[in-house]
Amino acid sequence: MAATMKENVDLGFLEKTTPNFLLSHQFPSKVGSKPAWLSLSPLPTPEELTCSICGKPCVFLLQIYAPDSENYSCFHRTVFVFICKDPLCSQKNDRKSFRVLRSQLPKVNDFYSQEPPLEDEAADDDCAAYPNAAGHQNLCIICGCHGPKTCAKCRKVHYCGKDHQTVHWKSGHKTTCGQEGQTVVASYLFPEFEVVMETEQYKEVAIKEKSEEEKMKEYEKFMAGQVGKSTMTGKEVDSDLMKMAFNEEQEDKAFKRFKKRIEPEPEQVLRYNRGGDPLWVSNENIPSQEDIPKCDCGATRTFEFQVLPQLLNHLDVTSVGDSIDWGTLLIYTCSANCDIKNDYHPEFLWKQDFSADEA
Ligand SMILES: [Zn+2]
Ligand SMILES: [Zn+2]
Ligand SMILES: [Zn+2]
Ligand SMILES: [Zn+2]
Repeated sequence: MAATMKENVDLGFLEKTTPNFLLSHQFPSKVGSKPAWLSLSPLPTPEELTCSICGKPCVFLLQIYAPDSENYSCFHRTVFVFICKDPLCSQKNDRKSFRVLRSQLPKVNDFYSQEPPLEDEAADDDCAAYPNAAGHQNLCIICGCHGPKTCAKCRKVHYCGKDHQTVHWKSGHKTTCGQEGQTVVASYLFPEFEVVMETEQYKEVAIKEKSEEEKMKEYEKFMAGQVGKSTMTGKEVDSDLMKMAFNEEQEDKAFKRFKKRIEPEPEQVLRYNRGGDPLWVSNENIPSQEDIPKCDCGATRTFEFQVLPQLLNHLDVTSVGDSIDWGTLLIYTCSANCDIKNDYHPEFLWKQDFSADEA
């Protein structure tokens, strides 16, 4: 049976942050820069973070801290999303250039104190004093993931693999190898933001029927946009026919609903609604229950949160490539939150793009 839309959806908004502020021991929800790992060891292997299309390493996109008070092993719980930055791997309705991982820990665990972190703790420069993944294994200097490879010349810097070693070499290590201080390649990763959650204030109101005048205005606006896109001009086609086609085809119901629902809070980049229904951006490419694989433990995976296309506006994707893109990214996780000890467990992502008409 389809789950019904839960009343309370939590919306994620971006807030600017300063470097070294969102660290592991503060259990942040964040976008960009390096991951703030929850379990500090073992980290996912480079193979677990590889793009299934091009074979290169995916980079960190975002993490959401979402503990489950009902479950002893989820006193802490974070879901991580990684993406391949190569625009060629960003294909329509295709999830193969993404990786999603879940990490969770009980209150008494191998890494963190049972006391909550102090608010201003990260203002301290000595980050190494706090529990962090670098204290447990080498990290890739480029992406902050597990770095089992070491520069053979200086033996001082580590990499997740050849790809990021090459990035580092070309962006300066070629000349700084063996010297004190390392080239930091900040622009390779996405800009960093904190994700702040707020409960959505929304009352479902029936979508008002548009008046004839409004419809005509919209149609004219649409046609104005179409001129130049095609060789056809408004005069060459039967305008009544076009008007009908516009009304029927251009208004994908799901898309209309999506726009309406986002409108009151246009800055939202994420919607958290565990066990609820996602907000689809199109009537097309909606997964059936069979499309969402069960967790290894046997439990079904249920919808947890979705990333909105609004996030793309904050990622400087033009410097990354010109076309990593999505309509929405839907994250499905094990409904049982099965105990995975200190490991990172793969979860499921579904990519839905806008239908051709809305793109
Ligand atoms: Zn790729
Ligand atoms: Zn790396
Ligand atoms: Zn070196
Ligand atoms: Zn499971």
